[in-house]
Amino acid sequence: MAKLFFRYAAMNSGKSTQLLQIANNYESMGKAVLLYTAAIDDRFGVGKITSRLNIQRDALTFDPELDFLQRDYADIACLLLDEAQFLTPDQVCQLHQLAHTRNVPVICFGLRIDFRGHPFPGSAWLLSRAEDVEEIKTICECGKKATMHIRIDADGRRVQDGPQVEIGGETRYRAVCGRCFHVGEPDSPALAAAAGDATLPASAH
Ligand SMILES: [Zn+2]
Repeated sequence: MAKLFFRYAAMNSGKSTQLLQIANNYESMGKAVLLYTAAIDDRFGVGKITSRLNIQRDALTFDPELDFLQRDYADIACLLLDEAQFLTPDQVCQLHQLAHTRNVPVICFGLRIDFRGHPFPGSAWLLSRAEDVEEIKTICECGKKATMHIRIDADGRRVQDGPQVEIGGETRYRAVCGRCFHVGEPDSPALAAAAGDATLPASAH
């Protein structure tokens, strides 16, 4: 039987690239897939999944109102969702039910936590419901595994507060490890101070 998959990562980890690769694998075997992305993601135009390798495909969009059970999946070999952190808990339950009652594998790709380190409700539910959970690994600038990400403003400064959802515009994100998330950038005075550089004043930040 099919099951619910969750592939989670920090920002800039190549999630969309992996998703498009899986779609391609199915299609090369003559099987149809359905692609979804969040209606909220307007970085590349509505209903597009774009990898950082500049491969782009059209996708259906989901918003919180969509009921995934209201669709016919008769000829669909796999359902692939990008930006799955924006699913509602109800929608995660729908996708779980879909996989198990209609035998359609559902593979969700998304962020586990936001830039403040808080969980997205959709991802918390996916981590609870998915039978197959896997972390997509990426690396912090310091060389450790990145498990988190920080938000950067147009001037390159870290943003500590703000809405959980802010896609596009001048906002950028950087994947970081837990230590850099808490202590600072790899080359920041705060991190150097934490590492024992006594020449820096305690207030350096
Ligand atoms: Zn780091």
